[in-house]
Amino acid sequence: VIEIGQPEHSVVTTCAYCGVGCAFKAEMRGDELVRMVPYKDGKANRGHSCVKGRFAWGYATHKERILSPMIRDSIDQPWREVGWEEAIGFTADRLKNIQARYGKDSIGGITSSRCTNEETFLVQKLIRAGFGTNNVDTCARVCHSPTGYGLKTTFGTSAGTQDFDSVEDTDVVIVIGANPTDGHPVFASRLKKRLRQGAKLIVIDPRRIDLVKSPHIKAEVHLPLRPGTNVAIVTALAHVIVTEGLADEEFVRERCDWAEFQEWAAFVAEPRNSPEVVGPMAGVEPDAIRQAARLFATGGNGAVYYGLGVTEHSQGTTTVMAIANLAMATGNIGRPGVGVNPLRGQNNVQGACDMGSFPHEFSGYRHVSDDATRQMFEELWGVPLSGEPGLRIPNMLDAAVDGTFKGLYVQGEDILQSDPNTHHVAAGLAAMECVIVQDLFLNETANYAHVFLPGCTFLEKDGTFTNAERRIQRVRRVMAPLNGYADWEVTLLLARAMGFKMDYAHPSQIMDEISRVTPSFKGVSYQRLEEMGSIQWPCNDKAPLGTPVMHIDGFVRGKGKFVITEYIPTEERTGARFPLLLTTGRILSQYNVGAQTRRTANTVFHGEDRLEIHPHDAENRGIRDGDWVKLQSRAGETSLRAEITDRVAPGVVYTTFHHPDTQANVITTDYSDWATNCPEYKVTAVQVAPSNGP
Ligand code: SF4
Repeated sequence: VIEIGQPEHSVVTTCAYCGVGCAFKAEMRGDELVRMVPYKDGKANRGHSCVKGRFAWGYATHKERILSPMIRDSIDQPWREVGWEEAIGFTADRLKNIQARYGKDSIGGITSSRCTNEETFLVQKLIRAGFGTNNVDTCARVCHSPTGYGLKTTFGTSAGTQDFDSVEDTDVVIVIGANPTDGHPVFASRLKKRLRQGAKLIVIDPRRIDLVKSPHIKAEVHLPLRPGTNVAIVTALAHVIVTEGLADEEFVRERCDWAEFQEWAAFVAEPRNSPEVVGPMAGVEPDAIRQAARLFATGGNGAVYYGLGVTEHSQGTTTVMAIANLAMATGNIGRPGVGVNPLRGQNNVQGACDMGSFPHEFSGYRHVSDDATRQMFEELWGVPLSGEPGLRIPNMLDAAVDGTFKGLYVQGEDILQSDPNTHHVAAGLAAMECVIVQDLFLNETANYAHVFLPGCTFLEKDGTFTNAERRIQRVRRVMAPLNGYADWEVTLLLARAMGFKMDYAHPSQIMDEISRVTPSFKGVSYQRLEEMGSIQWPCNDKAPLGTPVMHIDGFVRGKGKFVITEYIPTEERTGARFPLLLTTGRILSQYNVGAQTRRTANTVFHGEDRLEIHPHDAENRGIRDGDWVKLQSRAGETSLRAEITDRVAPGVVYTTFHHPDTQANVITTDYSDWATNCPEYKVTAVQVAPSNGP
């Protein structure tokens, strides 16, 4: 029995784990947080939560948290604890010195999808205006950057089209490349409720995820495609819809570019895109593809929900656009119950993208080369800004290895663990003269850092997060920052030391600036958030109460754009040496690389990554359930225990990536999305063999 005592007061705030954005009452006794209670008026969760948000907050006071800044001259020296003034002065001197020798574009930074909108906005402002370069990027580079590119191209805006409530009006759901039960559990509960009421489900996933068959739920169709064949399968669905006359031509004529549609329809109708050709190549029964296509086109309101199983491919952007094509061709855009809905992974990855974290875009997704937008920022910030897009994360690392990129500020991100090709990331970091890591714990990236600035948890700051349905919600300070400063205050210190003055007394003032310069946030303020509880952008003169469902009267870009989505097989091929395909995912109780969840006292969050392997593949290799196995790819190798299961098809293996010992990204390849450089984490040719352990 755990005695937690009676709370004395509570503060409503937002979960800092996944993109569902559940609201919680943080119940306090004095300055001590005693429990997190799901908030019944939370618009995204309506009083529900998952195990992470409710119980996994103990990391905030974990003994391994770093609370003092640390510096060192080189990475082979021990850390030296210093005060904030010395740490900030050391950092600014190094960065200015680098720029004096190598130019403004020799440094850059990475914003955090874990931090607030206000903090992210400030970091990109510091980099663009204070550093004088557009070398800013964010972790969306390795997850949902294809969503941004694909949906902006087809619909005109880089975000999902619906609110979560919309699922209550849905008749047919496609879940593709997502496992909501584990990744977005509170949304999964709402989806399951709708399925129990009779909505039909199509699952497109190499693995038999929980939704395919669980108590009271059974998918009508499961397409267990070979990893890497998303584009072919979605195009084959379109083939059936077009060739069987199931497209909603009235919608398309009215809302989309008709000539582009006709060109697209002719393309998808080609025999090479038929289920009979695509199915055998992708490992799926052609009849199942036809059944799924007919169901989606004729079953009523159709909605697509997708995750990283769509984006983290060499054709991630192409798949997003193929899904958008499918939704437009069937008239499933612009009303409740339909739409294209990315299930965003991190709590504020949507917000990080909205706030101008990409090297080519200011907040609100306006290109840096747009003269009017750039001049507006120049006048407000009082400095000239570059109209040239900056470097993306992989390009920064390449340039570091080449000797032209020398300094990196990384806020709330462990790129050594989360980015592809660990050896290359390490080489890039090691080649730099100043790496600054701002985080809660000494992460793997910090091994290559010269400055460590302690970060804050969501419990120690005010701000806002934006969830997967574009919902902006308040984050409220529950306790004082244990390190003395909230993250946004540290950015102010660094900006001033760099000679660029930024003055804000409270994050609400940062939001006021965001709303002044970002058309889709024009009507957002802390006062409005207090009154409404939350706001879904766009919120402006046209939509003063926000926008739960987008593209109702017309697409943001005008006419919806159909894009030809030619399937191009990944360069990553299986063969005699690496005959199996590895794909990856998450479990409910862990979060990403586990920095927070592994540091909670609750033992339910511990455990290990396991390799799921089909019984045939295990038997062929003499592997028994629970055995240690060596997992080897062209890039590297690691060891983990095997779990024999028919959740995966023969020829496919699967693992989670939550534990640093597994080092899943030592295995993954260098291939990435053609449009955005999002890494191809979901397809790696591997071999598996019995081993004696690590
Ligand atoms: Fe937090 Fe996501 Fe769980 Fe909600 S579903 S409590 S936002 S981790």
